[in-house]
Amino acid sequence: MFNLVLFGPPGSGKGTQSENILKTYKLQHISTGDLLRNEVSNMTPLGTEAKKYMDQGMLVPDEVVIGMISSKIDETPDARGFIFDGFPRTRAQAEALDKLLEFKNTRIQLVLALEVPEEDLIKRLLGRGETSGRSDDNLEVITKRIKEYHAKTEPVASYYQSQGKLERIAGHHPIPDTFKLLCKEINNYILPA
Ligand code: ADP
Repeated sequence: MFNLVLFGPPGSGKGTQSENILKTYKLQHISTGDLLRNEVSNMTPLGTEAKKYMDQGMLVPDEVVIGMISSKIDETPDARGFIFDGFPRTRAQAEALDKLLEFKNTRIQLVLALEVPEEDLIKRLLGRGETSGRSDDNLEVITKRIKEYHAKTEPVASYYQSQGKLERIAGHHPIPDTFKLLCKEINNYILPA
């Protein structure tokens, strides 16, 4: 199994590049943002709880997200591998993921960190807000999300760096150019399926 974490601030292109990667390498996509939005739109108890945090640009509590990930992994035991998109977002989530994968006799092999200047992030997210219908793509909430990223999520990069798994990728190029940079790293582990 090949398991990849796609890491980066809100608006860095994780969602877009995950789509490209999963098509090319036939990996299973796990996006906590998508899973949470799905819970919200189905008005489940989990969704109702999560929405309070999401609408304020804050992270949803670890235990909520970790439980969700575990059942998602179990849904496709025969996967060639997983792309984790938007997860882990805290050090506690990263440690929980290591334990979950160890239990399944596998592990994270590679973490690709997309790096994009902050002013580009804000521009992209505001642009997305015009069409996405996402209630968290407005300036006030975007600013809060980026702040949460610096405070809670950035430390996850050093967690993986100390395991020797982190590769930083410039994410301000056009989408296909960034995709090529990502593929170059992934090809060291698996080839397109
Ligand atoms: P983005 O990366 O563009 O901010 P996501 O779609 O990944 O968007 O996440 C949207 C919101 O969902 C986050 O602001 C947060 O409230 C919640 N969320 C997503 N993933 C996690 C996670 N792993 N841990 C806690 N909260 C999360």
